[in-house]
Amino acid sequence: MNKALICTTCGTQYPPDKQVPELCIICNDDRQYVTEDGQHWTDMEELERGRSTKIEVLCDNLYSLKTEPDFALANRALFVKSPGGNVLWDCITLPDKNAIDFINANGGLKAIAFSHPHYYSAMNEWAAIFNCPVYIHHNDSQWTMYKGKHITLWNGNDFKLWDGIRIVHAGGHFPGSCVLHVPSLSAKGTVLSGDTLYIARSKRHIAVMFSYPNQILLPRNEFVAFYEKCKGLEFDTMYGAFVNQDLVGNAKQIFNTSMHRYINSYGM
Ligand SMILES: [Zn+2]
Ligand SMILES: [Zn+2]
Repeated sequence: MNKALICTTCGTQYPPDKQVPELCIICNDDRQYVTEDGQHWTDMEELERGRSTKIEVLCDNLYSLKTEPDFALANRALFVKSPGGNVLWDCITLPDKNAIDFINANGGLKAIAFSHPHYYSAMNEWAAIFNCPVYIHHNDSQWTMYKGKHITLWNGNDFKLWDGIRIVHAGGHFPGSCVLHVPSLSAKGTVLSGDTLYIARSKRHIAVMFSYPNQILLPRNEFVAFYEKCKGLEFDTMYGAFVNQDLVGNAKQIFNTSMHRYINSYGM
């Protein structure tokens, strides 16, 4: 396996042929944090020891992949099974045998697509294993630390995949933040939101912030631009980046009440 170094706080893998920065660029940004005991690095070989991928069904044709025990941001990647080809939405750092065998048994991957840079993790490794493109919005090019040959930047408001699946640019949390819209997963469509729309613990609110861990609000103009891009999305179900961030059936109502909170707060 690749000896490229991986930040233990965010799980981002850096290119093997370059010196890593003193502090991880993703973590040293105001949206993230370097832990108090400083910067630490690991690699795939070390990460593999004692860890494996837990796979859970979220609904027909949607699965959660999560490293256990927790590593880095402890997010999940979402595997969408579709007749025209399967999509991995966001990544986890370690592609262990369990995850690889599961994906291959279900027809492999046609694409990896991202909500934003916090989950790029070891995307180049995953793309090499499944020989598929990785779709990243052009606005987040500067946050792409390791631009391997599978990385494909796209520009514009949305990027159509197949079977009606679309990557939709939203902005907000990152300039290139996106959601994945999958019409077939529920009656009115499902949004896989990453951190672009962050489902609160109560499940009665969806947050949109510059930083979630550091609790930094979005400037008003950026919220307005975000809302203009997202208000027309049709969906009834939403899955976020973390376990339990599942809003099944009532996601659009929660989205509407949450956005109205922001609209009132920003005096729009
Ligand atoms: Zn980091
Ligand atoms: Zn994030």
